[in-house]
Amino acid sequence: MRRFAAPMSTSSKLSALSFQCTTRALNIHEYSSKKFLNEAGCKVEYGIMCETIAEVEAACAKIQSPQKVVKAQILAGGRGKGTFKSGFQGGVHVCANTAVAVETAKKMLGEVLVTKQTGEKGLKVTKLYVSETVPKIKKEYYVALLLDRGFGGPVFVASTEGGMDIETVAAKTPEKIQKMPINIRKGMSLEQGVELASKLGLGPEAGQQFLSIYNFAKSRDATMVEINPFVALENGDYMCIDSKISFDDNASFRQKDIWAHEDLTQKDSREVEAGKWDLNYVGLDGNVGCLVNGAGLAMATMDIIAMYGGSPANFLDMGGSAKTDQVVAALELIQKDPKVNGILVNIFGGIMKCDTIATGIVEACKKVALRVPLVVRLSGTNAELGKKIIADSGLQLEAASDLDQAARTIMGLVNKQAKV
Ligand code: GDP
Ligand code: MN
Repeated sequence: MRRFAAPMSTSSKLSALSFQCTTRALNIHEYSSKKFLNEAGCKVEYGIMCETIAEVEAACAKIQSPQKVVKAQILAGGRGKGTFKSGFQGGVHVCANTAVAVETAKKMLGEVLVTKQTGEKGLKVTKLYVSETVPKIKKEYYVALLLDRGFGGPVFVASTEGGMDIETVAAKTPEKIQKMPINIRKGMSLEQGVELASKLGLGPEAGQQFLSIYNFAKSRDATMVEINPFVALENGDYMCIDSKISFDDNASFRQKDIWAHEDLTQKDSREVEAGKWDLNYVGLDGNVGCLVNGAGLAMATMDIIAMYGGSPANFLDMGGSAKTDQVVAALELIQKDPKVNGILVNIFGGIMKCDTIATGIVEACKKVALRVPLVVRLSGTNAELGKKIIADSGLQLEAASDLDQAARTIMGLVNKQAKV
């Protein structure tokens, strides 16, 4: 679900993080989104996904219009106004002919595109969408269907101000945003689609497309469909010329053809690895790795690391059960990052007892060649027994019983390492 962004405090950054973790969603590229939208009855322009210059040439030959549109495929928006690290401007180009399209493709493929949504790291472009140009665009609109907590169901959010950031429109001209909740039990009628279209000053054919968007989202388990821009053409047609869709992860079993379009190269490789072990993990840029059970405790751990001058290298919630092979995978993942020079393990023993967890950690540390100091904070059921197991392990592990002491200990060890 799309959140309208406000300036973020540290704690809201963290809660956004936990939000990402607990509601995992699949995002697919524009070219894939358009294929699925088209199958559902939405109008999109004809185009071909290309990974090489030879493919771009072949695609241009198949595209009827003399002009060709070349669009960088990354899992982030704002491409049109983005800048490549090479200095080349724009991830969306309307090219006069095939020769220009090929030259443009050469400047995009293999390059890193930075947009408002990618962060300064940017994303590498390995795929392009090469398409026909649409007949003259009269006006651009914004249309999205998303799940909204306030309405308790799906809601259309639409605006006559398309092609730009909806956050900016929401902040500056909120009256230009239309909202239409849909009762998920009753479903959506064509009349509702037409009503939404007329609110935007559009004809009934646009309403038919909005209905197709709804039916698509419902049948395909999409949690968000954002069309920006949805365009009205001079010839009276309507078309979706950009699309961003998120799908509910819990539906992967019944939407296998959609999941086949997942592009793992766009994901943080650490997160791909963590996914294999069913670890609730988000990679960050800091120097202290954390391994915690419980999302709230994980956030508190990240906060206290920051409070003592460190910076968390990751968010990791191991959940209620800490199986040894999961701990091994987590430790390997954390210390693979060269920036990490300490690990803080923060476990609260509830149903899972501290001695069982301590045994798992000791076993895991024996399997992984630990290259950095590791402090374990154990609290809860059988904490004393757990600490004894850590102390008797003969490994370079330190045990602590309160989080404050644990955080200070790991930061002391990290800072000592940094001085060497
Ligand atoms: P974004 O910047 O990542 O949101 O990428 P978009 O696909 O929305 O493209 C950015 C802008 O390029 C759009 O708002 C349009 O104005 C323009 N654009 C995209 N595709 C076409 C096209 O096929 N023809 C024309 N004329 N303009 C296009
Ligand atoms: Mn767009």
